Amino acid sequence: MIIVKGIGASRGIAIGSAFVLEDEEVVVSRVELPKQLLRAEVKRFKEAHKAALRDLDAAEARVLKFLGRDHAKLIHAHRMILTDTLITKDVPMRIIKEGVNAEFALSESVESVAQQFEKIDDDFFRERKHDLMDVAKRLLAHLLKKNKKSMPAPAEGSILVARNLLPSETLSLHDSKVLGFATDLGGKSSHTAILAQSLRIPAVVALSDASRRVKTGDFLIIDGENGLLFIDPTPDVVAKYRNLQDKEKLAEKSLESLRGLPAITVDGRKILLEINLDSLEEVKGISALNPDGVGLFRTEYLFLNRPAPPSEKEQSAIYAAALKALDAKSVVFRTADLGGDRVAALGVEAVRDEANPFMGLRGVRLFLRHQDVFKTQIRAILRAVSKGGHARILIPMVSSLWEIQSVKDIISQAKAELEKESVVIPGKIELGIMVEIPSAAILLDVFLPHLDFVSIGTNDLIQYILAVDRINDHVAHLYDAFHPAVLRFIKMIVDAGQNQKKRVGVCGEMAADLKAVPVLVGLGVDEISVPMRMHLRVKEVVRSLNYKALSVSASKALAASDAEEVRRLFGY
Ligand code: PEP
Ligand code: MG
Repeated sequence: MIIVKGIGASRGIAIGSAFVLEDEEVVVSRVELPKQLLRAEVKRFKEAHKAALRDLDAAEARVLKFLGRDHAKLIHAHRMILTDTLITKDVPMRIIKEGVNAEFALSESVESVAQQFEKIDDDFFRERKHDLMDVAKRLLAHLLKKNKKSMPAPAEGSILVARNLLPSETLSLHDSKVLGFATDLGGKSSHTAILAQSLRIPAVVALSDASRRVKTGDFLIIDGENGLLFIDPTPDVVAKYRNLQDKEKLAEKSLESLRGLPAITVDGRKILLEINLDSLEEVKGISALNPDGVGLFRTEYLFLNRPAPPSEKEQSAIYAAALKALDAKSVVFRTADLGGDRVAALGVEAVRDEANPFMGLRGVRLFLRHQDVFKTQIRAILRAVSKGGHARILIPMVSSLWEIQSVKDIISQAKAELEKESVVIPGKIELGIMVEIPSAAILLDVFLPHLDFVSIGTNDLIQYILAVDRINDHVAHLYDAFHPAVLRFIKMIVDAGQNQKKRVGVCGEMAADLKAVPVLVGLGVDEISVPMRMHLRVKEVVRSLNYKALSVSASKALAASDAEEVRRLFGY
């Protein structure tokens, strides 16, 4: 048995066999496309096909020059495959017939032919399968506009082991019914980790070289709570973890009695306890949980894994469903925070390679560059609320006042357009910003007169205060929500809110960290929004707290010299 220590990114235990994703390979997900996008999808495929043919021409010229005619035969074989009807006809046909994305259609066509090759009882022909795969990878790289290769989706019920996973890839794991995943890279508050929690997939990240140590088929255990990966565990370790799995289920059941009860401290301070929505799947479970609202709807996930942004109609149907599920309680729609590690095709210029994507064209910055996509989303939210419900709009990655003013202009334009189309938008839609860039926290007193509420995005705020990239495993140990500098920022934000009577919420992962909840309550935040699966756990903690005592500890913590001292003050 080998035990590898990493960082627990999503709680839970997974026991199963490994599926190792080789470095730089990518899971191809199936995306169903509306009929009107299918022609464009075929066109996109044809463009990628042309680009792959151009690659082969260039490669042939190079091989002829340096290696001679014999070696160039291989390129010739690849060209034959690429121009075979299997690729040129079958893939477009699948796109149209099945209504799916080009990447998926391609991998399906290739997979079916590869299986035929496997059956041939002749080494030479069996080997041709590799040529076919090579060609498919080349095409896929053009489709994805990045140097990634394809591979079939992991087997259902396996544990995925990979060097790294992007949020878009993590989303597709949900469809493949993967039990859990372990990655060499990553941090606790990476978008990949947050998504894993929402999808209830146990995950361990920052495992150094685990993806090279594990082979497909190895028996594994993932302990998402303690950040452990067991390779080939002994029978007693397996028994211990099966037992823990059972206990975990029982503990979840015992929390059920808290449904419907308010999140109120023992001395009577009521905290608005909301949920974060990261996927549409979750909308279905909302009414059973009966939270105080949706404090953060990460709408960017509607934009991933598809060739073009969702239309106004498609978006507004989804937003209306969320509003309906929440009844009169509010849903905070965060306009799509794309960019960083969540790169989507916006139907405009491709997002350029950025050396520091988390400091790059992300959130409101990207949307103010592509205002038509932004306005479509605002229109979709307004259209949804015209059918009823309580919507609030939240803007990510705001650093300056002019961004708030620009957003307000776009909202006014969208409203005026809709009113002309006889869409009636009831009342005022509250507008807030994510406070996740230090400049916004520092200038909040200047911003607040223009806003109705704010939500602290601790995931980003911590990375920018401490200069610790949230997805970089080398500095993950420096990422600390208990750092006194982080607490002073939160206090400054809470004070600014209280001075102007505007509500201050927290929707970053810190709010779902059971040890950090008392700190946030002590600092005086009004709202806490957490992933659905943490909702009842956090409620249990809030209901055990004494607000007055915690505010005393919190003021002492503000004077602490390091995170350890803060932990001691809160009894950890
Ligand atoms: C945050 O930054 O804390 C946040 C909630 O937003 P995201 O994690 O999506 O960046
Ligand atoms: Mg953020």
